[in-house]
Amino acid sequence: MKSMSELDDLALVLRPDQILTGAAVARVYDSDAYSVDRSKPTAVVLPETNEEVAAVVKVCVKNQIPITPRGAGTGLSGGAMPALGGVVVSLKRMNKILEVDSVNRRMKAQAGCVNLDLTKAVSHLGLHFAPDPSSQSVSTLGGNIAENSGGPHTLKYGVTAPHILGVTFVDAEGKIYEIGGTAPNCPWPDFTMLVVGSEGTLGIVTEAWIKLTPLPAAVKTALAAFPSVRAASEAVSGVIGAGILPAALEMMDRNILVALEQAFGLKTPPGTEALLLVECDGEESAVEREMTLVAEVCHENHAIEFTLAKDEAERKKLWTARKKGVGAMGRLAPSIVTHDGVIPRSKLPEMLDYVYAVAAEFEIGVANLFHAGDGNLHPCFYFDDRDPKQVEAVVSAGEKIIRRCIELGGSVTGEHGIGVEKTELLLLQFSEDDLKLQALVPLIFGANEVINPCKVIPNQKGCIEHKKRWRGVAW
Ligand SMILES: Cc1cc2nc3c(=O)[nH]c(=O)nc-3n(C[C@H](O)[C@H](O)[C@H](O)COP(=O)(O)OP(=O)(O)OC[C@H]3O[C@@H](n4cnc5c(N)ncnc54)[C@H](O)[C@@H]3O)c2cc1C
Repeated sequence: MKSMSELDDLALVLRPDQILTGAAVARVYDSDAYSVDRSKPTAVVLPETNEEVAAVVKVCVKNQIPITPRGAGTGLSGGAMPALGGVVVSLKRMNKILEVDSVNRRMKAQAGCVNLDLTKAVSHLGLHFAPDPSSQSVSTLGGNIAENSGGPHTLKYGVTAPHILGVTFVDAEGKIYEIGGTAPNCPWPDFTMLVVGSEGTLGIVTEAWIKLTPLPAAVKTALAAFPSVRAASEAVSGVIGAGILPAALEMMDRNILVALEQAFGLKTPPGTEALLLVECDGEESAVEREMTLVAEVCHENHAIEFTLAKDEAERKKLWTARKKGVGAMGRLAPSIVTHDGVIPRSKLPEMLDYVYAVAAEFEIGVANLFHAGDGNLHPCFYFDDRDPKQVEAVVSAGEKIIRRCIELGGSVTGEHGIGVEKTELLLLQFSEDDLKLQALVPLIFGANEVINPCKVIPNQKGCIEHKKRWRGVAW
């Protein structure tokens, strides 16, 4: 870790209120929402302009101080954890909407804007920013771009990438670039698409031009209760197999329902083991037709109850189970780790059986709340992270599940990224040659060892020995 004197140069480029240091600050910024690994920064800086971000990067490069970009810190793979200490660059003060161009359905915003605020700013124009991670009331545009985030509506509208036209980007030497732009199709090579999903390892996104999507004319939401996870999983395949593309198709299992009942008094019909939330949107008549088919498929798969929201208030109520599920898990244990893997949808029943078997083998609690339509699993392990044995069990169980996702033809991550959590797991999915090719991307951008070290690329110099230390940092 660098000493304060080496950080003094920061005071030459920022005001004192833009530089935070001290034990409390180090504690708050030592992890993101993946609380298994922790590492304290020496300072947190809060730049307000592109030029200030560039100046901070130059100071850090000159003094060889590690830099970790940070949005809201809701990441679930340790991407915003300052793995080798140094300076956390928080984009939270860069939260202005810079330009709305409703005719061309696009908007320019700073990276620290909260996802939901982007939609709030244009909903009166009948538009919205379609990527909607479940953290959307907190997570930032910069974090969404860095993680190429998905969300409940990814099934129909896609992940973040297709909604980004261009970015303003500060590279790892402090140079400012405009990448991409306002036009929908960028000439090859498309560097914007290399920046999206790069998890802050290439540089810092400070602004972005985003696409705006028309709000649908009609939306219908239903909640179906099933007697087993298997029946609900089969209904998922049935809905897609019937040629319907719902806007959202989300599943919650028994343990999430237990937490929701304890936290918010949510009641489900007797015998319910899983809930499926289905939303269809589009033209009124098409939505009606699709929802009729969805109801038929659910009943064919033994749904105990099928509730169709009659109005907007009921629709919001049905979403409560999905939106408040992770928060409610706090009722079950002090900590949760939400894993993230992808499998072909048709493998859902077999994979969920496997998840429960692995949790039983490692003697940890598991609840599932996930984007079933995308085959994007989120086994949430609940445990006490003050007990090192439980932490190791959670990590080992997660690795076992990810291995099976790959065996079934899936992927190590659907939307939460690699961060520090999954660097070694990449070796399961990619060959040595694949990884060598991927390692060329940071070279194109002139990325150095200072910018977000130990993330994404496996076996980075100087990182292996730090792994144990991250896990040893106590509360
Ligand atoms: C309750 C909950 C629900 C969630 N639901 C979803 C979901 O449905 N779908 C989903 O995909 N994810 C979900 N997530 C994960 C997380 O919210 C997303 O990954 C989100 O995009 C992270 O945004 P953030 O602003 O919090 O970024 P952070 O956590 O601060 O950072 C994430 C990564 O991005 C980098 N980064 C941040 N800002 C910048 C920038 N301006 N320039 C360059 N790099 C940057 C960081 O270095 C880090 O590697 C959820 C998390 C929680 C806690």
